Amino acid sequence: MKLTIFGPNLSPKHQATGDFHVHALGCRDCRNYKGDEVENFEATTIREIVEDIYSDHIAESENQDWEEYNVGFHIFPCAKGLKGE
Ligand SMILES: [Zn+2]
Repeated sequence: MKLTIFGPNLSPKHQATGDFHVHALGCRDCRNYKGDEVENFEATTIREIVEDIYSDHIAESENQDWEEYNVGFHIFPCAKGLKGE
């Protein structure tokens, strides 16, 4: 599905609920993120997103389990169509 991902370094209010906020592309909530870093993305699984965003970390780490890097991702209800992996 097509997604809009905000983060990292979100405003404090948003940061409180996750380093990265994952919304469906065009979701109305996206208007609430003025000034935050944003990237459009196409993926079918959460794993794809995590592995892309943390590709450098995962490549350089002995721990290559993608789920270790999944902690800061907040998947909003509009993006619930995403599968885990
Ligand atoms: Zn949303």
